[in-house]
Amino acid sequence: MNNIYIIHMNKYELKINTAWLKRKRDGLVKKLAGIGPFVDGSIAKVKRRCGNKNCKCYLKGEKHESYYLMYKTAGVTKAVYIPVDMVDEVIALNKEYKKLKRIIAEITRASKEIIRRHVSEKRQKGQRK
Ligand SMILES: [Zn+2]
Repeated sequence: MNNIYIIHMNKYELKINTAWLKRKRDGLVKKLAGIGPFVDGSIAKVKRRCGNKNCKCYLKGEKHESYYLMYKTAGVTKAVYIPVDMVDEVIALNKEYKKLKRIIAEITRASKEIIRRHVSEKRQKGQRK
């Protein structure tokens, strides 16, 4: 966590002040409205044999590819089978969630920086008067 903080600080250092951060944050909040339906979790591809002796996986030795949506509830990993004709849709939903998470992380980073800078900027303004 500390390393991440240092990297972000360097990225911000040159151009930032609270007004800039707030404009940046407002822009990010507006982006939230553009977020479509989403689903949390990660998609896992599982290869297996189904056990049907008439199936290609038995006859040709080719394994089936199944997709699962993996997620955690109270620390326990769970999986939802993704029907074949829904795979593309679920991948898109999951991508949307990752986009949302990135925006949330950026808003949080900006907010924390605004909180951090509050006292020192107030002090600077006070000196100018
Ligand atoms: Zn099979």
